[in-house]
Amino acid sequence: MKLDLLIKNANEIITVKGASHIPKTGKAFQEISIVKGNIGIKYGRILNVDNYNYKAKQVIDATGKVVMPGFIDCHTHLVHAGSRHYEYEGKCSGKSYSDIDKKGGILYTVEQTRKASIEDLVEKGLKDLDIMLSHGTTTVEIKTGYGLDQENEIKMLYAINELQKKHPMTIIPTYLGAHKVPPEYENNRQGYIKLVKDLILTIKKENLAEYCDVFCDKIGFTYKESKEILEEAKRHGMKLKVHAEQTNYNRGAELAAKLGAVSADHLDYISKKGIEDMKASGTIGVLLPGVTYHLTEMIPGHKKVKKFLPKKIRRMIENELPIALSTDYNPGSCRTQSMQAIMEIAARLYRMNYAEIINASTINAAHAIGRSNEIGSIEFGKKADLVIYDCEEHGILIDKFGINLAKIVIKNGKIINLY
Ligand SMILES: [Zn+2]
Repeated sequence: MKLDLLIKNANEIITVKGASHIPKTGKAFQEISIVKGNIGIKYGRILNVDNYNYKAKQVIDATGKVVMPGFIDCHTHLVHAGSRHYEYEGKCSGKSYSDIDKKGGILYTVEQTRKASIEDLVEKGLKDLDIMLSHGTTTVEIKTGYGLDQENEIKMLYAINELQKKHPMTIIPTYLGAHKVPPEYENNRQGYIKLVKDLILTIKKENLAEYCDVFCDKIGFTYKESKEILEEAKRHGMKLKVHAEQTNYNRGAELAAKLGAVSADHLDYISKKGIEDMKASGTIGVLLPGVTYHLTEMIPGHKKVKKFLPKKIRRMIENELPIALSTDYNPGSCRTQSMQAIMEIAARLYRMNYAEIINASTINAAHAIGRSNEIGSIEFGKKADLVIYDCEEHGILIDKFGINLAKIVIKNGKIINLY
């Protein structure tokens, strides 16, 4: 038998395997399996992980290197126009997210995104996807939420679907019409909620998005409003996600669990009941440490210091709530596309250990987008989405920061030319 591709002599193959039909929690979340040896690839799939030197059309020598499953970035707002780099200065000098939001924030991005054409959004999106891929991410979820009207939400979905046609990365499209109430509906919230709900039908008919998401927060939508939108999406067969408990406790986690959402994301202010409910419903908790980092909420003396976060995250892990990690890449509250950076921040700010971080960035993240049967671990039959890192041990990938160690990215068994 001749393989299509053989990766040989890897110092560490981080397989992340084990019970991949259920997310890793408890003892399994604390473990990663490490193999020294070779990976055989045929027809874009992983055929074997062992020490046998099969003949292959193409061979990569991975001596002294680490091989991991491609990262799955399960929560992003990658499609957008304009830049809000100036906000970062304000945040660093102590302004809160809510303060910045009053002066523009999401609505500035909405203004810019509405002005942009599909071509503009696709052009910028392709560049952003290239950066992600070159840092080791092979699958990404992308949300709408900067159109906030019929024409522009659909435009964003067309752009996301166009990116899938043009880029090698796997893209999961999510409809987030309920990101924020646009200014023209400020005095008619119910009118906007109706619009969001009406669009679900069109999106479903044209098969433009797989998930429906809602920003359930004091600066987004109330519990009741979120419930109304998510129930409509569920009725039309869409899978659900919820932005929950980011800037305040709003029972978003409880709501996600009640409606059987695949994930609830952020969770800074999750309650004990929220943890219990999500665990019972199998809803994945997606943590976004890049947001904590970017919003400077950990700066001592800041009024919104979130010293409680590491404790809260430990409570989620100890209660065996399945945890995933993601960038939340967006123009305002998290500016990195690199999951390598997110891993470092998760260790530093959330006090997660290396095994937890790797499981949360790969197999559990695959569960957070319903793709665990295809990706997220290095196992027989799974897609050969693999990344070879220029370091001898996986810990180096987490403790180094501000650099990119991804050397070779393999997507569906094919070597991607990185710039
Ligand atoms: Zn988000």
